Amino acid sequence: MYSKNQIIQVNIVDLSHDGEGIGKNDAFTWFIKDTVPGDVVEASVMKVKKTYGYARLQRVITPSPDRTEGQCPLARSCGGCTLQVMRYDAQLKYKKKKVRNNLEHIGGFDFDGKDSRVEFGDTIGMENPWRYRNKSQYPIGIDKNGKVVAGFYAAHSHNIIDCEDCLIGTEENRRIIECIKKQYDPAMRHILIRKGFKTGQIMVCVVAEKKIDFSVPDEPGITTTVLNINDKDTNVILGDRTIVLRGPGYIEDYIGKLKFRISARSFFQVNPIQVEKLYGKAIEYAALTGNEVVWDLYCGIGTITLSLAEKAKKVYGVEVVEQAVKDAEENARINGIENARFYTGKAEDVIRREDFEKPDVVVVDPPRKGCDERCLETILKMQPERIVYVSCDSATLARDLRILCNGGYNLSRVQPVDMFGHSVHVETCVLLTKASGSEG
Ligand code: SAH
Repeated sequence: MYSKNQIIQVNIVDLSHDGEGIGKNDAFTWFIKDTVPGDVVEASVMKVKKTYGYARLQRVITPSPDRTEGQCPLARSCGGCTLQVMRYDAQLKYKKKKVRNNLEHIGGFDFDGKDSRVEFGDTIGMENPWRYRNKSQYPIGIDKNGKVVAGFYAAHSHNIIDCEDCLIGTEENRRIIECIKKQYDPAMRHILIRKGFKTGQIMVCVVAEKKIDFSVPDEPGITTTVLNINDKDTNVILGDRTIVLRGPGYIEDYIGKLKFRISARSFFQVNPIQVEKLYGKAIEYAALTGNEVVWDLYCGIGTITLSLAEKAKKVYGVEVVEQAVKDAEENARINGIENARFYTGKAEDVIRREDFEKPDVVVVDPPRKGCDERCLETILKMQPERIVYVSCDSATLARDLRILCNGGYNLSRVQPVDMFGHSVHVETCVLLTKASGSEG
């Protein structure tokens, strides 16, 4: 048997869905973070169960051909970029495999057998998988030596690890963080920075327990600064009250041709370049000709809804967060779109109303937990020609696709898109078409 701190040698052969390397010694399975399939490593035993255990990487004996130098010295303590030591092309292959495995194991699809006709794309990657996030949130505070620190929380704790320049955030962050750290006030909790990649507009938001003043560096992109008040004992970063200190209190950015207004609290996709590729697939799969009625369920601030509006007769968005629906309506107005309507409520409740126009195409983009079963049942009753499913969790996607396919739809296309390079997350866009012979 193995004991704690024992040094073991392991061949890494696979990756878990959380991005840990998996190795086998005899019949025993090891999970070892920061390793890559193909590595031979030396690791120290941390925790042992009956048939598996966890170990900590000590030394790479033989590196995998897929291994690369991690660019961020803090990757191991941060835990955000779990795949950072894996070459980017290998990350993309891993993500496709992850989606495929989930669809096969959870959804019961068989892409080598009965489902071999499904068009399954390779993961669409980024040209540059760095500096891709348009939003960064840095906790700020004092460390045990009395030094002002801002960066990220160490795993499972509220200790702040100092990091002014996260490599997946923007270049401007460093100068902004440096400047605010110099003005540190014990009431400060977080610094939130958002940037419109197409407009260049930057918002700096300091979250503090009470009203304080601060200034920002002389950075041409900074078009607005706001203070958000959060005095609650909570893990939620933003409080209810936002005070605009300078500028309009929001920034603007584009997805495709559409303009969006983004305030401190608005939800907006964090990878604006990849989101265009993802929505591009959703638009392609929806195959609109101008005559269709489209329902976009889980529509957020209406980004997909409005992207589809131009080619549809009518689009309806459904979203549970009231503020997001208000933003969606405002976004329709700013862009002069008149054939979109939005409803506040749970998708599964709203679409069951009898007086609604039947859709030709339904788009869903649910949160990680996937669609409510009642929502899927209602979609099946409505019998749209096509269903486009945009998913951020391929396990719940697989579960939901099985229900839709058992209800008379064929899985036709699957396209993974990488929105979060170096993390294990992957978005997937899927097309389902009504099986011929099923009742309309
Ligand atoms: N399509 C949007 C948002 C996707 S995120 C975009 O691409 O930007 C998922 C959205 O579903 C969130 O806005 C969340 O508030 C909303 N949501 C969660 N549960 C819901 C439900 N039961 N019914 C409707 N919307 C829901």
